[in-house]
Amino acid sequence: MSSTLDKPRFEYRGLTVPYIALWEHEHITHPRLNFVRAPGGVARLGYVGEKPRDRDRRGVLYIRENSAQGRGIPDFPRMHSVRQREAQRRLLCQVCGVSARKMHQGRTLFLMGSAEGRRPIREGERSTAPPLCPPCALESASSCRRLRQGLAAAWVEKAIAWGVSGIPYHPDTIQALTEDRVEVAYDDPHIRFTLAYYQVNELRGVSPVSMEELRAFV
Ligand SMILES: [Zn+2]
Repeated sequence: MSSTLDKPRFEYRGLTVPYIALWEHEHITHPRLNFVRAPGGVARLGYVGEKPRDRDRRGVLYIRENSAQGRGIPDFPRMHSVRQREAQRRLLCQVCGVSARKMHQGRTLFLMGSAEGRRPIREGERSTAPPLCPPCALESASSCRRLRQGLAAAWVEKAIAWGVSGIPYHPDTIQALTEDRVEVAYDDPHIRFTLAYYQVNELRGVSPVSMEELRAFV
């Protein structure tokens, strides 16, 4: 059984720093992009001097980012690519890093917030935000100023790996097609020419839950 001792827990100015948060000494490096041949011979985006860890299990190319968790100052709203992907894939709590899978009647808790307020989490909604365990969800809700403005929580039966959030490149020129990140599905042909930042999951079997109900649950 998992315990909270599995992952180091960091605090900054009295606040728990989420497992997926980016730290000051974590930086993206930008190896030169190239066309490479995937197994099977199809062309895809790659790095000059590529390493096996530059791709996920599906062969999607990811940004290269060092790991220096706990060093310097945390950048709360920004996510570390590798830890985000790990949390999305294994359904780890985005705050404590321990499994958040199936914590209530086989379902997993998701919590989303926006300063502008937000609607309830919808069936089939896609997100780069990994789940939370209920205690961390309540702690986040009470400590995060941004979340307090507009919160939506839901129990979710399935979080399916849908695709990535990243920058697609032109397959002939290796020029970025967008300035900002866009979502690209795994079954979209552009995925082979996309530099991914984060994994996107699709939420199925969504049942909204109020913070009061969550408090009673914990
Ligand atoms: Zn947690």
